[in-house]
Formats: sequence, structure tokens, C-alpha cells
Amino acid sequence: MAELSPMMQQYFKIKEENKDSILFFRLGDFYEMFYDDAKLASKELELTLTGRDCGQAERAPMCGVPFHSCEGYIARLVAKGYKVAICEQTEDPAKAKGLVKRDIIRVITPGTVMESSMLDESKNNYICCMYSKNKTIGLCFCDISTGELYATEIRGNDSYNVLTNQLTSYNPREILIGGDIVKLKELPRFIKAKLSAGVEMLEDEKFDESVCTDVVKSQFADEYSTVSDKSVVVCVLGALLSYLRDTQKTGLERINHIEFYKENQYMSLDYNTQRNLELTQTMLTKDKKGSLLWVLDKTKTAMGKRLMRSWLEHPLLNITSINNRQSAIEELVNDNMLRMDVTDTLSGIFDIERLMTRIVYGSANARDLRSLCGAIQNLPQISDLLVDCKSVYLKYIYKSIDKLEDIHSLIDSAIVEEPPFTVREGGMIKRGYNEELDSVTGDMNDSKGILARIEAEQRDITGIPKLKVGYNRVFGYYIEVSNSYKSMVPETYIRKQTLTNCERYITQDLKDVEGRILGAKDRSVALEYNLFDDVRKTVSDNLERIQKTAKAIANLDVITSLANVAADNRYIRPDVNLSTAIRIKDSRHPVVEALLKDAPFVPNDVSLDSANDRVAIITGPNMAGKSTYMRQIAIIVLMAQIGSFVPASSAEIGIVDSIFTRVGASDDLASGQSTFMVEMSEVANIIKNATSKSLLILDEIGRGTSTFDGMSIARAVLEFCADRKKLGAKTLFATHYHELTVMEQLLDGVKNYNIAVKKRGDDITFLRRIVPGGADDSYGIEVAKLAGIPQSVISRAKEILKDLEHGKYKNENANIQKQDNSDDMQLSLIGSAESPVIEKLKDTDINTLTPIEAMNLLYELKGMI
Ligand code: ADP
Repeated sequence: MAELSPMMQQYFKIKEENKDSILFFRLGDFYEMFYDDAKLASKELELTLTGRDCGQAERAPMCGVPFHSCEGYIARLVAKGYKVAICEQTEDPAKAKGLVKRDIIRVITPGTVMESSMLDESKNNYICCMYSKNKTIGLCFCDISTGELYATEIRGNDSYNVLTNQLTSYNPREILIGGDIVKLKELPRFIKAKLSAGVEMLEDEKFDESVCTDVVKSQFADEYSTVSDKSVVVCVLGALLSYLRDTQKTGLERINHIEFYKENQYMSLDYNTQRNLELTQTMLTKDKKGSLLWVLDKTKTAMGKRLMRSWLEHPLLNITSINNRQSAIEELVNDNMLRMDVTDTLSGIFDIERLMTRIVYGSANARDLRSLCGAIQNLPQISDLLVDCKSVYLKYIYKSIDKLEDIHSLIDSAIVEEPPFTVREGGMIKRGYNEELDSVTGDMNDSKGILARIEAEQRDITGIPKLKVGYNRVFGYYIEVSNSYKSMVPETYIRKQTLTNCERYITQDLKDVEGRILGAKDRSVALEYNLFDDVRKTVSDNLERIQKTAKAIANLDVITSLANVAADNRYIRPDVNLSTAIRIKDSRHPVVEALLKDAPFVPNDVSLDSANDRVAIITGPNMAGKSTYMRQIAIIVLMAQIGSFVPASSAEIGIVDSIFTRVGASDDLASGQSTFMVEMSEVANIIKNATSKSLLILDEIGRGTSTFDGMSIARAVLEFCADRKKLGAKTLFATHYHELTVMEQLLDGVKNYNIAVKKRGDDITFLRRIVPGGADDSYGIEVAKLAGIPQSVISRAKEILKDLEHGKYKNENANIQKQDNSDDMQLSLIGSAESPVIEKLKDTDINTLTPIEAMNLLYELKGMI
């Protein structure tokens, strides 16, 4: 250390305190990185790795980025999950004695980004903090770029599932963890596989209750009372605020409200369901196009876009709230003029929420203020449009919109229409806004006049006709006299420069004038900055009014978007109630319908009721439309519970508490589990967490294993779902196992449906109509033909099928397997049903079992009795 140069010693001292961040160390016009940071950043950012003398024999590895274009580089590092610590020179290098003082001014982490260039305007950027003690989990999510803060408390046996559902809905970029949460062994795997978030373990002291209480009280004053009786929530809020303060190094004025929610306020949607229903992105390509959000999001503002996403991820359970949204949509659907006018007026409103963050934290420039001014310019018009609205929700929005005319006129009178990007070079403030500035700039602007006067005066005094006053950067203003008049120059002129044809002079008077003109420039720049800063502060002082208005605009945008989509696509208002039934006439899949170009979408009905017809078994060939049908029912229920209109001719939706889906063969490579294992763990999760008020979409359960295993599991799951003593949930159950259609006769509440196809010769036509009864055939060979399998293979498949039907391969199989009991099994499964214990034993080859497997089998058998 001793041999290091003083600057490198300073570097190491600061680096020591920021070990887990990439340190951007300000040196003149660059941010430099050294040693491992330099090696890492040069790789990640494709920068040239150089070296710098550091006092030691070997040069220190170094790379750097220009300070004025650092944002893009920081954004790339943060997007990759790194933290970046910004170390600035904290004194003017020109005035510093010896080494310039440097300090960390901010640590940018994935969850604490504020710059719009680093953020996706259509998504919130959440940082999450969680902590648990005494079997209670405190959880909060904060978006510091908008100031939103949500907090909740989770108790009970299924807290792990509730926690992961919440994490899925908010999808944070950074997670702070502490307390007993570390005991949840599956959590790290869930976070790694399903979220793209960095995780930071915080020490227990960070969650100290008395410290956290003080922090929360001082941040929220009265609002502290909303969480005061929930100690784990106080702890997560306190730890989060302290972390934000440590990394941002500024006050957190923007975060001024805690939105406490109860997890049973929203429909619960687990990770698989959000993914399978393709709510915000498609399953394969992860694009917005092709998702439900793509159909519903016709919002005009960034604030509306974020809120629309949040509504989709948080369907409601409260009938009144749902009805209020519906009535507002209905009012706009019924009034085309109003809807179009509101839509037009919303267009062009900038992101007030994120603008306000920059204004409050003092990083906004004059352009940002002008954008805010432009955004609030439309408010009076929006307010006037809503003045006669009847629905409760639109009335509430109307009341929440503050026209902010004072703010508009302040900015409009102070800031020029097209201000420069920088705030330290003047050119921002309008003439007439401030007298002092006007007089200073008067001096400055009149400099040409002043100099012309001096020129004329000097020509008079000296009698030199071509005498000129000019300016250069080396010695400022000068008087230029051509060689032919050199002899007439007065003694008071001081010669400064000799050129080929002329001489240049200065005089004391000219220097004085120069001082006045140039001083005016400095003074006006300083004055402009102060005036600009005052305007920014005044706007910032009105944060609450502006924030409330921004929220109202976001709500109006989402409602208007849903109304536009409803009107354009002939959606209807569903009757959402507390019944146990879901009855929809002519339901359509909103996304498939929007994507279908050639053929029209064929509508279908559904009728499910947990009291009677709970379970619909759906059979039919591949490609018939089973998955589409089941998903469209789930999506319609979800749309109804966010308050949206739905694609159907009529719909009665009894509120569901959650939707669960098990769809197709989802590959889960990241978790290193086999497809069948994933399928079974998803089924296990559904069985454990679904209630009689849930809606279940089960598509081809059991197909990941051998036919008999698969069919047995499918049947057992079906029995469990249908049985009111066990679950009795509304279930749509698509299966290839036609044998299961017999369950309609055996179980209460089960009905068969199939998707009709028309067969003519070898060809089938999909009718896309759901009809009562089981399918008579799976038409696998016909579908294979349709898919383009060559005729020779199709013909051979038909031969084999015929042979199979006549039992030809039984003997072949018997020879290979030595022991063929498939007939027995078939009988026992579908018919009088032998004990599953005996079946299991029959199936087991005891000679190949290890002692552990034998032990496990014994436990399993015991469990089956
Ligand atoms: P399955 O699950 O039975 O194999 P899918 O639900 O995947 O079949 O449907 C196959 C294709 O059929 C879908 O991609 C869609 O384009 C089309 N389709 C499904 N249902 C309908 C419908 N009701 N109207 C029109 N086309 C449909």
C-alpha cells in the first residue's frame, strides 16, 4: 500500500467500502475503473483495457468511459445485474490543494435506477425487501422511479406459495432478504429460475425493530399508523429505506405513501398460470405481441401502460371495485364522442410520475420542466370532458384531477419553449420573467451596440477611418488599425499583436467594457440557474397534488383503453357476482381471435358450477382447439375480475379466488428437472393450494409417463378435483385418455364434452365447436396426415392400428416382456377397481429394488391404504 501513489491509495480506500460494486472513479473528464473492475467492465462493455502507473512496478489494469456519456455504459452493467458505485470529485480540482477529494455520490443497482434512459417506460422497476420472524413474512415492493411503495404481511402454512405468487406479480429486479426467510430452501432456486433479480442478504441488524420504527416514522409521519401493529412490515420498510438511503445518498422525499394491501385482496395467480395464460408475454418468444396485454393495452401514456400491466397481474376479488370499473368502461363504451375525445387528449401526456422523481431529486433539466408543462396543459381539457360523467369511478377520477394551472403558468412564464439540455449555460429563462436577469442580459445582448459605439468614438478621436473593434479568445476585445494609419495611433493604445497588414491594440476603456460584457454573461448564467432551480423547487413542493393527478390520469388511461378495446371488439359487460357458477355464451379467445386472419373464430359456451357441474372432461383430437377453449375461459374470468368487458355474447362470472393451470409439456431446463417431474410438481402445487372457489385448467395430465401410470394419475386427480369433500373446484380437464369419459357416470359433478370434428374418408375437418359427450375417436392418424406425414407412413400406421385392434401384437409383446398383464390392468383401472396397493405390488419387480427403494415403497403402500 505504501508504495502506491496517493491517488491509488485514495482509490483503494473507497473501493474497500464498495467491494460488491463496480467503482466508477472520476478522473477529469472520465470515469475510470481499475484492477478486477477494469477487467470485468472491459469485457462486459467491450472497452479497451489499458494500464496506469500506480506507484508499483506493474501498471494497474484500467479502462474508462467519458463522464458525459456514462449513462449508457452504466445502464448496460446494471441490466446485467451489477451494481455501479459513482465516485465523484467533491471539490473543484482547480482550487484543490494536493489530491482532489473524492466520494461516492450514489450506488446504482438494478432496483434503484431512476434515469428514464435506463428504464422501460411500460414497466415498473421494483426493489423488494422481505423478512420473516415468528412464521410471519413482511414483504414490500418499491419503485423509486415513480415513488410507489406496496407492503403486505403473509402468515400461515402456505406462505411460501403466497410469497412466490407475489414475487411473480411484481417481478422485482432486486431483492433484499433477511431473517428466517433464509430457511426457505426452495426460494433461491425459484428466484434464479423464474425471476431476473439480483439478491442481497442483509444482516439482522438492518431489520432491528426499534431502528426500523424510527426510520419508518420519520419517513411517513402519520401513515406509520397503517403498519404500526405489523412488526415484520415495519422491519422490511425500515430496512428498505435504509438501504435506499445508503445507496442513493439523498433524501427519499418521493416515497411518501405506503400502500398496504392484504394478499387476499387479489386473485392469486402463480408463476405457471401467469406464464401459461400468456398474460403479459408469450410463452415461447417472450414477446408482448400475442399476449393478453397486447390485446388490452391501448393506453396512451407511460403511466397508463404501467398501471394496465399491474391490473392484469392483480385481478380483484371485490365485487364493488369490479363493478365500479365496469360502469366506468360502460359509460365510455356508450359515448363514442366522449371516448374518442378522452383518448385524443390523453395522447401526448408525458410520464409525469417519472418526471416528478427527477424534479424532486433535483436531476431534472429545463427540458423536463417543459415536458411537465406540456403534460399538464391537457388537464383542464380532460377535466372539462369528465365534468358530466355519471359513473362513480369516472367521477372519482374527475375529482382527483387537479388542473395544475398555477404550475403550468409558472413553468410557461419562466422557461423558454426549447431550452438547452444543460442547466449551467443559460438560455433557459424567458425574457420578462425576472427584472434583474433582463437588465443583466440587456447589457450582454447590447454588447454589439456598445462596441459599435466605441468604434465610432475612436474613429472620431483618432481620425482613422477604417479603425475596427474585434474579439479574439487570446486577449479579448481589441482595436485593429491597418498599417497605413499606424502613425495616427494615440499613445494610450497598447500594442498586442502585429499582423501582416495591421496592428491590434487594447485600451483601458476597452478592457473595462469587456469586463462588463463578459461579467454579464457569468452573472446571467448563475442567475438563470438560480431562477430555474427555484421553479424546480416550487414544482417539487407541489408533489402531492401532481402525484394524485398523475395517478388519476393513469387510471383514466387504463379505463379508456379497456373501453376502446371493448367497443372495437364487441366485448360485453359480464355479470360478476358471488355465485358459484361460470356461465358464458359464445365465448371467444381474445388473443387467438385478434391473430386469426383467414377464418373467423368459432365461439363456444361454457357452464361450470361448483355446486353441480364442476368438472368438464374435454376430449377431441389434437389441434381441435381444446387448449384454446380452456385458456379462453380462464382468460375471460380473469378479464372479468380486472373489471374489463369480455369477448362473449353473455357472461355470468362467480368470483374465483385463484386460477391454476397445468398446460402442455412445459420445459423447465433451468431447474434441471425432467418434464414429468415438473408436471407432477405443478399438479402437486395445485392440489395443495386450490380451493373450492378456484378455477383449474388441467391439460393432458399424466402424459409425461407410460399410458397406465398416466391414466391412473389423471383419474386420481380428476376424482380429487370433483370430490366436494376434498376439493370440488371448477375444473376444465382435457385428456387423451378416452377411457376417463366413463367418470361422468361414476362421479357426481362431472360432464363430458368434446370438440366436434367431421370425418370424410381419411380427412377430417375441425369444427371448433364444443358439444356434450365424449369424443368417439382420437383421429391421431388423420391429424398426422393433415400435418404432412407421407402417405406410405400413414398407410402403415393404419395397418398397425387395425392389427392392434385385433390383438395381433399381444403375443409379440408377451414374448418380449415375458409377463403381460395389461388386460388385467385395463380391467382393474376402469372396471371394478382392484386395490391400488395390489396393483402397485403387481407392478413391482422386487429383485431389482435397492433396500432404500424397498423401504420407500413400503411407506408408499402404507400411505395408499
Ligand atoms: P388442441 O389443444 O386441441 O391440440 P389448440 O387449442 O392448440 O388445439 O388449437 C389449435 C389451433 O386451432 C389454434 O392455434 C387456433 O388457431 C385454432 N382454433 C382453436 N380454437 C378455435 C376456434 N374456436 N375458432 C377458430 N380457430 C380455433
